[in-house]
This record gives sequence, C-alpha cells and structure tokens, in this order.
Amino acid sequence: MAEEVNAYEPVIGLEVHAELQTKSKMFCGCAVVDSVTAEPNTFVCPVCVGFPGVLPVVNEKAVEFAMKVGLALNCQIAEVNVFARKNYFYPDLPKCYQISQYELPLAVNGWMTIETPDGERRIDVRRVHLEEDTGKLFHVDGHSLVDFNRSGVPLLEIVSEPDMHSVEEVKAYAAKLRAILKYLGVNSGDMEKGVIRFEANVSVRPAGTTELRTRTEVKNLNSFRALVRSVEYEIERQSRTYAEGGTVDQETLGWDEARGATLSQRSKEQAHDYRYFPEPDLPPLEISREWVEQIRAGLPELPDAKRARFVRDFGLSRYDASVLVAERNVAGYFEQSVELAMGAPRHHPSPVVPKTISNWITGELFGLMNQAGIEIEAMKVTPERLVELIGMVARGEINWNTGKIVLAEMFSSGESAPTIVQAQGLAQVSDEAAIAETVKRAIADNPGQVEQYLAGKETVAKWLMGQVMRAHGGKANPQVVQSLLDEALAGLKK
Ligand code: ADP
Ligand code: MG
Ligand code: ZN
Repeated sequence: MAEEVNAYEPVIGLEVHAELQTKSKMFCGCAVVDSVTAEPNTFVCPVCVGFPGVLPVVNEKAVEFAMKVGLALNCQIAEVNVFARKNYFYPDLPKCYQISQYELPLAVNGWMTIETPDGERRIDVRRVHLEEDTGKLFHVDGHSLVDFNRSGVPLLEIVSEPDMHSVEEVKAYAAKLRAILKYLGVNSGDMEKGVIRFEANVSVRPAGTTELRTRTEVKNLNSFRALVRSVEYEIERQSRTYAEGGTVDQETLGWDEARGATLSQRSKEQAHDYRYFPEPDLPPLEISREWVEQIRAGLPELPDAKRARFVRDFGLSRYDASVLVAERNVAGYFEQSVELAMGAPRHHPSPVVPKTISNWITGELFGLMNQAGIEIEAMKVTPERLVELIGMVARGEINWNTGKIVLAEMFSSGESAPTIVQAQGLAQVSDEAAIAETVKRAIADNPGQVEQYLAGKETVAKWLMGQVMRAHGGKANPQVVQSLLDEALAGLKK
C-alpha cells in the first residue's frame, strides 16, 4: 500500500573530515602545504609515501589541535589513545593501510548547538579521531596521476550522532563546525581546496516513529552545496522508494554534481572489511589530565560565547550577533570598530553605536564584499575608516544614501570618507532656507500631482520628496526635507 511521500522524517548523521593545518605532517617531518598550488610530489619522504621499513612518529602539535577540537565540541578526551591500521588498497594510499583510530578514539561524547528557525538545537558528537590523509588522484587525458603532498597530512574525523532531521539542520551543523575549526586556528576552512570534506549518512522513517532505518552514505562531498543537494536528493529518493512499497539498500553513494543525483558506488563496506588492528609501530598515546587542562585553558572564545557577549555588552539582537560571529575575522573587525567608536575623546563623543556598526557591516559591507567576491581580511576599508564614515553620517555631514555611495568608493579606491566627500562635493545640504525654497518650487511646478495628493493619494508625498532630493543632487538632509515638505503639504490641506 502506498504511503504519502511527505509522511517521512529524515534522519541524518554527518562524518566530517578536516585537515589539521600543522606545520608538518602527522607521522613525518614533511611540510603541510597547499595541495592546490604546491608542485606535486615535492613534499614527500619515505614515511609518507610508504616505503617498507620506515617508522612513523606522532606529531604532538596535531594531537594538540585534535584536543582543541574535541574540547571545543564538549567531548571527553581519552587518557589512552590507540592508533589502528585500516587496511585497504587504493592508488592514493601507498602503504595500503591508513593509520587511524578505531576502538579508542581521541575524543568521545560531545555536542554542539545549532540555530534553527525553531530555536537552538543540540546535536551530539559521537567521536573525534585522528588519522592521516591520503594522496590525491588526477585523471588527465586518459592518464591517472597521483600527488603525494597530501599523503600523511593530519586529518580529523568528526562523527555526529544521527540527530539531524532536515537539510537546514545539516547545513547549520556543517557551517558551525567549519566556523569552530577556523576559530581554533586548526583549519583554514577553504572548502574549495578540499581541507574539509563531508560524508552524509541518510535514512528516512515514518514521521512520529523513532526507529533507525537502513541508511545510505554519500561520500566525498566537497562543498556545502553538494552536501545540501545530495541530502535533499536522498531524502526524496528514499521517501519515494518507501512510499511505493520498496526497500532502501545499505549503500555507499557518490554525488554526480552535473546530473544532480546520487550514484551507487558499492555496497556498504563493514568494519571487518578493513581488518583493523592496533598499529604495531606506535605505542598507545597517553594524554595526561594536565595536558588536557592546559589545552582547555588556551582555547579562544568560541562563537556561542562571543554571540552571548555581543548581545549582553553591545545590545545587539541575537540574530545580528549570530551573523557577526559566524566568521572569526568578521567578529574581530566588528569588535575593533566598536572599540574605536567607544574610545573617541570625551569632548567629541562618537555618536556611533554598536548596533549601527553592525548594520553597516552586515548590510553595506557584506554586499560589497559579496559583489567583489572577497573576504573581510582582503578588504581596503579599515575599521578606523568605517567608523569615520559612520560618524559623518551620524553627525549629519552626509546623508545615509550618500554614505552608501561613499563606502562603495572607499571599498574600491581605499580612500577615506572625508577625502571622497571633499573631492566629489558630497557634503549634505542642511540649509533650511535653501531646502524650503526647493520644496516650494516642487509644489508649484507640479500642480497635477499636488491635486492628486489632496484627493487622498498619499504616495505623491514620497514622489515630491524624491523631486526635492533630486534638485539637491541627493545631498539634502532627508529629515529636513521630510519635515519641511510635511509642513508645506499640511498647509495646503487647510
Ligand atoms: P561507519 O563508520 O561505517 O560509516 P558509523 O556507525 O560510525 O558507521 O556511523 C557513521 C554515521 O552514520 C554517524 O554519523 C551516524 O550518526 C550515522 N548513522 C548511523 N545510523 C544511521 C541511520 N539509521 N540513519 C542516518 N544516519 C545514521
Ligand atoms: Mg562512514
Ligand atoms: Zn613525509
């Protein structure tokens, strides 16, 4: 019997692979380099290309980075860590095994919160373990090439519980995790360079039930877009399959971006297929409680704490604060701007409040950055200059619309607001007599429109306002124009 397709609730768990961007690799002294720009196979040695007889040595910094992530995700850090060999053959894996962790991972039982339209939700993190990355395969003109620069780069696998129930939650979790990794300074977050990769485990179940049905696993998702689209596709496909009376097979799937569909790669491998066994070349790694506490004490302020502080100290809305803390550098830029605005001399106090700064950053500045496709660190407008511009608007030296034009100019030329305003003669006209004169003229020149206004067509007032602004080249003080125009129109009504 056919059921309704939308009678199914999605159940999703994510496995996230994140490179730890230490100076050297996980088990040898080779440098960790940008795997997109570095000359292939130039940062390799007998250890990371798997020559027989070589011995791995654990990179202490990588363990510290992994602990930071584990602690930021509220995990318990294991006292004894055991590395294990995960055996499989693939051309990008010269040792024919990957050193990973299996039974005793570095961190377990964590959680993270995500923002959803219905409020905050908690997603549990099952485990976080350390392993090593593989080489990279390229298929060019019928040839396959392999670059081992990435082979042996420390890699963290972060596995969630199957706690997500919509693509929005999946996206929020993935984005928050990326933000945390960047805050911790352990990963650049450059998704297009493959430093973070997702695997989505998806099943669906009749809404209202709690069973865990057969899942499929979509591998190698390198962007938020691919993650979201593939999960959407799987939810839809599985729901339809069940609705039509079919069954879902446990499978490993790939994502075909061009076709917008998942494809079967193989039936799901089981743990025993990998013949895990403890890595004989590495002793168990003991992590003292002192070391854990030392790392914990050195953690930076993370997005949730920062958001709460922005709300408390700066009176921002929870939403505005969330937008600002999503990127560490944006949060830093905002804080620097606030500090500058608040630090203005007492005899000349700044009228610039945090809420206004937040609006300019998330509105105008984000718009300009998106258009130009650049990040905040690459931008020419310094916090000093932004605050200077906002100050000019707040003091009425230029109006808000002119402010936007000036900011766009600052963004492209790097000039300061006063320089641009001077050079282009953009200073605001607040001279009431001059504006009153223009208002009078606008009313006199447009008797037809004024008649419509008096007959009840309110929108004419806006239009007249536009005429007056235009007569002043957009530089008139809008409040002054508004009040003089209101006054004049009210006078006509009598
Ligand atoms: P493996 O390592 O073989 O992929 P795990 O048991 O470690 O398997 O689970 C991997 C991921 O699959 C986890 O993120 C988990 O939350 C998720 N998962 C497990 N069962 C289900 C299910 N029925 N539906 C959706 N996700 C699931
Ligand atoms: Mg898996
Ligand atoms: Zn090496």
